[in-house]
Amino acid sequence: VNFTAMKKRRTEIVVETDEIVLRRVGASVAIWCAECGSLARMIAPEGAMAVTGASSREVYRWVEAGQVHFLETVEGFLLICSNSLPTRAN
Ligand SMILES: [Zn+2]
Repeated sequence: VNFTAMKKRRTEIVVETDEIVLRRVGASVAIWCAECGSLARMIAPEGAMAVTGASSREVYRWVEAGQVHFLETVEGFLLICSNSLPTRAN
């Protein structure tokens, strides 16, 4: 058994899993936000929807209008700065 290959494969699986969790569940990652000038909790659009109660259409409208801090990963994956999200309107 080639343990080095197994370990490498395991790392790849972990990375893939993290990405899926981030996309599907809306988990957050701490990333430097240039707008905040500090580390910020970056969440996927789905996470922003969960936090604010907004629809995906609203979340993407905020992004397009520059109303929220956001960044795009090299994979084209959108992350939104949770500090910039509007508070949930009840
Ligand atoms: Zn920010």
